[in-house]
Amino acid sequence: MQKQYESLGICKEVYEFGCRIEESLKERFLHLDETAEFNQIKVISAMQKKRVSAECFGTTSGYGYDDIGRDTLEAVYAECFHGEDALVRPQITCGTHALALALMSNLRPGDELLSPVGKPYDTLESVIGIRPSKGSLAEYGITYRQADLLADGSFDYENIRNAINEKTKLVTIQRSKGYAVRPTLSVEKIGELISFVKSIKQDVICMVDNCYGEFVEEREPLEVGADMIVGSLIKNPGGGLAPIGGYIAGKKECIENAAYRLTSPGLGKEVGASLGIMQSFFQGLFLAPSVVNAALKGAVFAAGIYETLGFDVLPGAAESRHDIIQSVTFHNQKAMTAFCRGIQAAAPVDSYVTPEPWAMPGYDSDVIMAAGAFVQGSSIELSADGPIKPPYAVYFQGGLTFSHAKFGILMSLQKLYEQNLVNKNLMC
Ligand SMILES: *Cc1c(COP(=O)(O)O)cnc(C)c1O
Repeated sequence: MQKQYESLGICKEVYEFGCRIEESLKERFLHLDETAEFNQIKVISAMQKKRVSAECFGTTSGYGYDDIGRDTLEAVYAECFHGEDALVRPQITCGTHALALALMSNLRPGDELLSPVGKPYDTLESVIGIRPSKGSLAEYGITYRQADLLADGSFDYENIRNAINEKTKLVTIQRSKGYAVRPTLSVEKIGELISFVKSIKQDVICMVDNCYGEFVEEREPLEVGADMIVGSLIKNPGGGLAPIGGYIAGKKECIENAAYRLTSPGLGKEVGASLGIMQSFFQGLFLAPSVVNAALKGAVFAAGIYETLGFDVLPGAAESRHDIIQSVTFHNQKAMTAFCRGIQAAAPVDSYVTPEPWAMPGYDSDVIMAAGAFVQGSSIELSADGPIKPPYAVYFQGGLTFSHAKFGILMSLQKLYEQNLVNKNLMC
């Protein structure tokens, strides 16, 4: 085995250190396997109940009337995530699009949107109009309020209560920390927040941005009172196979609104050709629990490695997990760059390119990104990125197999090791 790794540039010291860390995580991995097993059964059960057949993998074009694959897939998503209905489409281009769709279709002029968990994901700032943008909710007369989390990451119930008023129509709850420094919310915590919100205003729509959270736990937010969950198919539920797409699942009325907005009033879910990619959606969902399992093991392994080497990691290797994101804070630009170059060097695609920090639209500093993916921009595949500014933290996620995630992390360590950016004494 060591020879295999050596042939790709991993030295004996790094390899052996990795083996020790992996050995120490055995127990943890067993628990993750149990979650994956539970969720695998959940997915198979939904597919059987909704009678998935080979016919579902056929293609439609044009209007896409009576697309049995599309309609069955949506029924499977609804069943799997405990929704009354679902919208799962290649015409939803990404997670941001799915979230924008869910918001714009369920809010009307004069309504107010509330985020009780602080600032939402970067790209939503333009959707909401926090950052002025053409077509934002603000342009349509939809106002926005926010209640920040308390310093310890808990909900500011007092402020949330004060923020809810007669205009509050929809509450958006982001499950994953995304690229913010706050804890990711467990499904249980999300349930507590929803109960609180509904105790103040019963008919408010509670939407959960479920990106990076699917299949990490045994329960999903619709099971604890959410009305809508929203996510991207090039993250967890696409299982690495979906080449595009987004989903919304939940209350029938919410999904109906979204469908009429995605296509057209009067048409709704009835149109939308699937263009021959249904098999990847079904098979991706089937694989998703084990792909998420691989990504979680990779994240825990990375936490174990870098925690032992004295870096700040979030979450820690022993902490409970509610999404697949792992952050490592280097406090050092060189180390951060070396980490990303290692991830890139371990990729099956584009392994020969060298990531360089670069300016990116929407960011106030250069950003470095590592990704060698089959699906461009897919972050269920092994990837890492971070803004080049203090504290020089990298956000790391994905890995379709644990072996690949492990190799990527060892390669990242190899790069740091070669440049003397780690305390080698801590590796023995
Ligand atoms: C990725 C992500 C989004 C946006 O998804 P895109 O597919 O990148 O547009 C929104 N919210 C969270 C929490 C995310 O992780």
